[in-house]
Amino acid sequence: MKYKCLKCGQQHEGRPSIAFDSPYHYAKLNEVDKKSIAKLSEDLCEIRHPEQTDRFIRTVLHQRIVDDCRTLDYGVWVS
Ligand SMILES: [Zn+2]
Repeated sequence: MKYKCLKCGQQHEGRPSIAFDSPYHYAKLNEVDKKSIAKLSEDLCEIRHPEQTDRFIRTVLHQRIVDDCRTLDYGVWVS
């Protein structure tokens, strides 16, 4: 199976993974807060609030597919 990658526009072999570029808590920040209280990389995110610091890491959740030896992969953020 081939698919067109939404990130680089190239055709890739295999199945696309379902992923988010940032955790929801980062995505809902306004642009000023994204620059001033948050740090985001491909796999790590930190948001500094006055009362607490939230930290997130992206990992891969592999889901088995019935009658298929492959998995469907989700890129999920966990806190
Ligand atoms: Zn790609």
